[in-house]
This record gives sequence, C-alpha cells and structure tokens, in this order.
Amino acid sequence: MDRQQASQANKPFARTIIIIGAGVFGLSTALAIADRHPSIVVKVIDRLKPPVLDGTSVDTTRCIRADYKDPVYAKLAKAAQTKIREDPELNQYMYQQGMTFACDGEPDRFTELWKAQKKLAESLHAEKDLVNMPDRESVFQRLHGKDTKPPSAGELPGGMSRWNMAYCNLEDAFIDAEKCIEVYYNRCLTKPNISFRCGSPVDHIRIEDGVAQGVVLESGTSIEGDLVLVAAGAWSGRLVNLEQRIYPIGHEVAWIKLTTDEQKRWKNNSITTNLSTGLNMFPPYRGEIKILRRSPGYKNTIVVPDPEDQSKTMKISYPRTIVDNPGDAIPLDAEKAMRENLKEIMPSLADRPFDRTKICWICTTPTADFLVAPHPRIAGIHLATGGSAHAWKFLPVIGDLVVDSMEGVLSAELEEKWRYVRGSTGRDENAPRMDGEPEELRDVVRNKSSVL
Ligand SMILES: Cc1cc2nc3c(=O)[nH]c(=O)nc-3n(C[C@H](O)[C@H](O)[C@H](O)COP(=O)(O)OP(=O)(O)OC[C@H]3O[C@@H](n4cnc5c(N)ncnc54)[C@H](O)[C@@H]3O)c2cc1C
Repeated sequence: MDRQQASQANKPFARTIIIIGAGVFGLSTALAIADRHPSIVVKVIDRLKPPVLDGTSVDTTRCIRADYKDPVYAKLAKAAQTKIREDPELNQYMYQQGMTFACDGEPDRFTELWKAQKKLAESLHAEKDLVNMPDRESVFQRLHGKDTKPPSAGELPGGMSRWNMAYCNLEDAFIDAEKCIEVYYNRCLTKPNISFRCGSPVDHIRIEDGVAQGVVLESGTSIEGDLVLVAAGAWSGRLVNLEQRIYPIGHEVAWIKLTTDEQKRWKNNSITTNLSTGLNMFPPYRGEIKILRRSPGYKNTIVVPDPEDQSKTMKISYPRTIVDNPGDAIPLDAEKAMRENLKEIMPSLADRPFDRTKICWICTTPTADFLVAPHPRIAGIHLATGGSAHAWKFLPVIGDLVVDSMEGVLSAELEEKWRYVRGSTGRDENAPRMDGEPEELRDVVRNKSSVL
C-alpha cells in the first residue's frame, strides 16, 4: 500500500517520523501528525529547546496579514488568521491593530506590487476595514495625529520623501511569536506520541542504498526512523543538498526603548511598512518599538561536505546568529537605512540608540514559495522549509498541509507551488526584498560593544 492509499484508508503512513527543527514548520507538523495518526511515533529534534532563541519563528512580534498579491496565499492566510483568532491560547497574544502598507509611488515593481496588493485587499475586505491614505500627510497623521505635519522633503536624506501613499488593512494584526511557539511546544508535550530531543544538533541524515534510515546527532547518538522531515529552516541546506533551491539570507532587526509617554501616544498604531524602502515598524509592545528591514540582506558563506557524497564539498549560506556570536551587531549600512526611514516617519526616534539588534535568518526561495515536497533523490526524506519571510502566519494550517504532502494527497495547486525546482526566474512578490545582492556578513558585521 503506498502513502496515498494508506491516507485514503486512514492508515498510518510511517512507524516513526523524525522531524528536524522545532519552528513553525516542525511543531505544526508534529501536532498535525499526532491529531491524524496518533499511532505514529514522532521524534522532534532541535539544536535548542523551543522556543529556540535564534530560530526564525521566535521573535518579539510577527505580522498576521492576508495582504498578498497571490490569491492562494491570501486565502490560506485568511483561514490561518481565523484559526488563530479562535484559539484561546494563541489569541491572547494577538493584537488586531491593522497594518499600513506604504510606497513611494515611483514607477517601479514595488509601486506596482503595492497597487496589486491593494486591489486584492479591496476585493477581499469590507470597505470599513480599509483606510486609504492618498498622500504623505495622511500617512504621517495616521501615526502622529491629525494636527501633525511630516518633515518637508528637503529635510530628508537625499531630499526625497519615500512614504508618499498608503492603505491600512484594519483586519491585520501582530502577534507575540515567541509566546505562541511556546504554546505549540507545550501542546506537543501533551501528545503521548510526540517526544523531543533538544541540545545536540543533527550532524547528518543516515542514508543506506539511497534510503534514509534516521539521523546521527553531533553527540554521536543514532536515532532510527523510517521518514525524516527536514524542517530546519535556514539551516536546512547543510543537512540536504538543496542545490540553491533555497538560499538563507539574514535581515536586520532593531529595538528602541520608549518613554511611558511615547508608549501611550503610539500604543494604538498599526504595523507600518513601506514596500519601496523595505522598512517594517511595529507598534509599541512591552515598552519598545521593533523595526526591521527587508533589505537585500546578508549571507554567511561556508564550505561543507555534500551530504550526498562526502568526497565533495558545497558552498552554502548558513545562519550566523546571536547564539554563536553574541557580540554581533547589525552592519552600519543597515542602521543608516533604518534611521533614514525613521527621520521621515518617526523623527523623534531617528537618533535614539538601539537597545539591541540582531540578524534574523530567512530560508528564502526565489519566488518566496515554500518548499514542501519529497526529497528529489533520497527516499525517506521529506522537505518542509523555504518559509522565506512570510511563513509564520500559517502556523495553524501549515502542518496539515505538510502531512498531506507526506501522504501524497496535497492539492495539485499547492503541490505545483511548493514542489522542488532547481532554477527559477520568478520574483519574490509574496514577501518582497529590496533589489540587490546580499552582502557577506562577516565583512560588514559590527561588534556591539563599539555600537550600542
Ligand atoms: C526579520 C523577519 C521577519 C519576519 N516577519 C514575518 C511576519 O511578519 N509574518 C510571517 O508570517 N512571517 C515572517 N517571517 C518569516 C517566518 O518567521 C519564517 O518563515 C518561519 O518562522 C520559518 O519557520 P521554520 O520552521 O522554517 O524555521 P525556524 O523557526 O528557524 O525552525 C528551524 C529549526 O531548526 C533547528 N535546526 C536547525 N539545524 C538543526 C540541526 N542540525 N539539528 C537540529 N535542529 C536544527 C533550528 O534550531 C530551528 O529551531 C519573518 C522572518 C524574518 C527573518
């Protein structure tokens, strides 16, 4: 009986499944397996105990939005948001304050994307849920109040304004990502068939005659399993040769502490983002404002053995994080770009020191489509990664879809979207980054003792 037939007969499709990675993909899949097939033994392995400090799924905040140009993600995101809203353990950490999408209006792909996204939002949401801001005055006033005025363009870096038009989707929300991952981890612990092994990373997947048999940890321990799910996010490319189908990129994140007055003044603001500059700013949360930038990003190139042929090596980009390099601070060009944006929309914060910064790693694909598919060459390995900069919001739905994929019953539409393809000329329109090549992080990273 193959997996598809087993699924139709509701029979377990494996005895033991090893999940590498306890982020959004790994935890959501572990729970979906436990709900659908309680007899399958699920072993989740991570470098660290969840919520994993430097995991991409763990952060103070994440956006929960359904504003996509692609109707497939828009629909899926709406369904996921409804599930979060109905989940009393998750919804206590969700704050529905809307999300403002701005752009500079210049004739380029970001303005076109903004227009397409706005049009789709108008077709999916009631008029009362969308606020139109046709000029830079209204964008600024939404943050600071009716009787305020943005700085004149002449006072801005380069003498040019970039926050020139916007719309706000009041349905959008932000969420405490760390707390929700903790909820999912604790939920997994209540399932008798799920166990965790944290502390020693997987060194390699053990393969015999082209079939995965389980994993070997860096500690030397072997763990057997008849199916291995690689859900290791930006770290995945070291465990399986993904031939550049995914590319880990680091994005800059910074936090600014606020006074009590500032917290009161801005507490009801929406998330505010600019598709043309890449800046994303959250409302005050726990006494601080978080900003990040979807810049061209940073890479960290290393050379590792090819997992499919140890006599060969391969060059990959691999996360360099605050866990291994606690002294790191974001590069100077990242700080400058963030402050230039703040000068225009939050002038009083533009020169305020950052409380802390980090580089957050995404496992990006050329089209920002996820990678949920069997390994193209090795039986017994399934892939659930490629979250790019937008997978968090799918936490309540992605696991079921990964199980569908493992069982061979994923819808044709999603199977096509998330399949393993080597090359792609598509654009990352569902989670756009600024144009440009990622810089080598080690050449530009700073030490925090000299910065903050
Ligand atoms: C700055 C930034 C902002 C973002 N904003 C949003 C947003 O607003 N909304 C949204 O929906 N999405 C957002 N995203 C994207 C989202 O966070 C990711 O797509 C998602 O969290 C990826 O989940 P994951 O499970 O693939 O990866 P991770 O959470 O990184 O999980 C992978 C896990 O694998 C473990 N691991 C790695 N190697 C090994 C090994 N060898 N052995 C054992 N364990 C291993 C890691 O420790 C890690 O815990 C953002 C991402 C970034 C970087």
